[in-house]
Amino acid sequence: MSAIRFLRFLITPLVYFALFAAGIWAYQNNATFHERTDTVVLNLENYVRELTGQGTSTTTQKEHQSHTSTINEGGGGRWVKTRATLYIAIQNPTLKSAMEDAVSQWNGTGAFTFNITTDKKKADVIVSTMDNSSNQAAGLTQMSLDEATGYFVSGKLYLNRAYLLNPTYGYSYQRIVNTAEHELGHVIGLDHSNEVSVMQPAGSNYSIQPADVQNVQKLYSQSASASSTSSTN
Ligand SMILES: [Zn+2]
Repeated sequence: MSAIRFLRFLITPLVYFALFAAGIWAYQNNATFHERTDTVVLNLENYVRELTGQGTSTTTQKEHQSHTSTINEGGGGRWVKTRATLYIAIQNPTLKSAMEDAVSQWNGTGAFTFNITTDKKKADVIVSTMDNSSNQAAGLTQMSLDEATGYFVSGKLYLNRAYLLNPTYGYSYQRIVNTAEHELGHVIGLDHSNEVSVMQPAGSNYSIQPADVQNVQKLYSQSASASSTSSTN
């Protein structure tokens, strides 16, 4: 065995070990501050709200999105008109109140109107809670889209009790409201944004911003198919 070959024989396993360790490190860091977005079925889009870590930490979170359906690439989808009806099935007073405040805030913009119904059958979107401490999501929205028209047909919005109500994560009431506003933004059809926006994927630091209102107006000033095409850019 030549000296070079012997050296390679020694070093190659070390390189593989280093790559393996880096992979583990990356996975663990991602798993801690991770926003997961899954497309469950072809015409179902999931939006997952980032868990905001230890309360005040807001800048290190990352989001990962995977879309298996091309129709949902870059978001896409909207309601026919600037309105949707919600059925709020939330018992917890804090989360219920936060959701109602978020609805009022959106309605106050004039760009989109949520009506709240007490008849589940009349609702476009069911709003409820989940208790999932393993999905790293403070909120989750699933919109069902008619691929032929590009219009939403129904939706489900969940606020995650496991994070929003757990003191460990230090959610203030305002940040719970911001989380609800963010999820309602997905219900409207907004995608994530990195500008100063309620649609920032992580942190729940912002309430509805002027840019968000403009994005809603833009989304509903064009046809559904045109909007999903343009949002891929
Ligand atoms: Zn989101």
